Amino acid sequence: MTGGVTSSLGKGIISASLGKLLKSRNFSVTIQKLDPYINVDPGTMNPYEHGECYVTEDGAETDLDLGHYERFLNEYTSSENNVTTGSIYQEVINKERRGDYLGKTVQIIPHITDEIKKRIQLLSSKKNYDFIITEIGGTVGDIESLPYIEAVRQLKRELKDKCIFIHLTLVPYLSAAGELKTKPTQHSVKLLLESGIQPDILVCRTERELSEKLKNKISLFCNVDIDSVIQCIDADSIYKVPLLMKEEMLDLVVLKKLNVSHNNKINLNEWTNFLNKLENPKNNIKIALVGKYVQLTDSYKSIIEAITHASTYFGVKVDLKLINSEEIVENNLYEKFNNVQGMIVAPGFGERGIEGKILSVCYSRKNNIPFFGICLGMQCAVIEYMRNILGKKDASTTEIDKTTSTPVIDLMHNQKQIREKGGSMRLGSYECKLIENTIVSSSYNKKIINERHRHRYEFNNNFRELFFSKDMIMSGYNPKNNLVEIIELKNHPWFVGVQFHPEYKSTVQNPHPLFISFINSIIKNHEK
Ligand code: GLN
Repeated sequence: MTGGVTSSLGKGIISASLGKLLKSRNFSVTIQKLDPYINVDPGTMNPYEHGECYVTEDGAETDLDLGHYERFLNEYTSSENNVTTGSIYQEVINKERRGDYLGKTVQIIPHITDEIKKRIQLLSSKKNYDFIITEIGGTVGDIESLPYIEAVRQLKRELKDKCIFIHLTLVPYLSAAGELKTKPTQHSVKLLLESGIQPDILVCRTERELSEKLKNKISLFCNVDIDSVIQCIDADSIYKVPLLMKEEMLDLVVLKKLNVSHNNKINLNEWTNFLNKLENPKNNIKIALVGKYVQLTDSYKSIIEAITHASTYFGVKVDLKLINSEEIVENNLYEKFNNVQGMIVAPGFGERGIEGKILSVCYSRKNNIPFFGICLGMQCAVIEYMRNILGKKDASTTEIDKTTSTPVIDLMHNQKQIREKGGSMRLGSYECKLIENTIVSSSYNKKIINERHRHRYEFNNNFRELFFSKDMIMSGYNPKNNLVEIIELKNHPWFVGVQFHPEYKSTVQNPHPLFISFINSIIKNHEK
């Protein structure tokens, strides 16, 4: 799956939608993303550069498209589902240093392209997938993506009719001319052809319906069968795209092109039920999401999707109010929060905006507003409680104040020696034991859970006795190293802070139990 004309056409959603359709026909599918940047992974990038960093079960920091793959397919991805130029070069250079290419000049072709082809096929050595959808990041024509385009050209020679190319392009509407224009698509296909790739299928992103005449024109000029010119019209929800692609028969065209004979019926019942509920909400609730990356909603992609999954489960629509924590001060709390029914304090790093988050926690605690603190959000709840209930006024996290007398959040023991920033946090899935008769144990209805992490700091166990001496309780901990993973407040409608990231595991089919419980508490609280 390549993309042309512009970025942000939604290759990730088209890949996930195609994957969903094939999976709904009972095929096994996985999707991978090849990212042409030089970073080894997106873990060291600011969310404004790249959107959210998505964490897999096995602890890879990956592109947010992997979140879409998991949410659509309801299946885990892994470190192998995301490849970057940085990781490719790192591997090739390590091999060169080891002497694996001794005597040879190491070059983009064949060494870099061989490594790319190896990574594409690595997934099939793990499981016998019927389909691997490989999404090449960036836009055709970018210097960075050339080695990937060349690698898949070579791969097609090797795999022959087991491999097809889908190209996602834009058919813009020019209002001055009152017409949809095919020229950018023609140019983009021409660029692909220069690299030796003839697309088999064109998915045309458009604001308006493509007429048969226009499809014919694209088919003729781009040398693509008429049934392989697929219209992808703008949708108001990403979850509608699989159905739009089904109407356009994208899955059937793919099966035909790959000569896959089958009589697998498609079953999208659950998906359509979800969409019906999404489109016909019974009522609305307002939730505040407090964070510092609010100018780009992609920064909180998984949280926003997890809210959608859980609220749709109850048939309610959430008006999400993104609140910039940097703008929060004591005397504007009421103005910011007076009309919200629930509050999420978001994950994050560094000092900027943290005091606003702590003030927000205080507001929801005092005003009985259901509160959900995630990672840094949980750490802020700990600091707030320590300062305002337990009287340790300078309580803080050593992430922002190294000299505090009450470092209630501190660097994890095994983080203290770490100097390299990349890939060195506590990452991926860890076990957590839940304490009975707590909000979380009834939400999960389990004793042991596994959730994904991405942090360096943690609750400082030296303060455990003092911290849990009043109405704050520890409701989940790591049984291996005794780290506090969940805190909750008694005598409050719903106040939960989690050190992990539950949002990564929420899917359309399996909305996350904590988000369900949180939304449920808002609905109940509101009714009251
Ligand atoms: N900055 C905090 C830490 O490293 C929280 C990280 C997060 O919210 N993901 O522990």
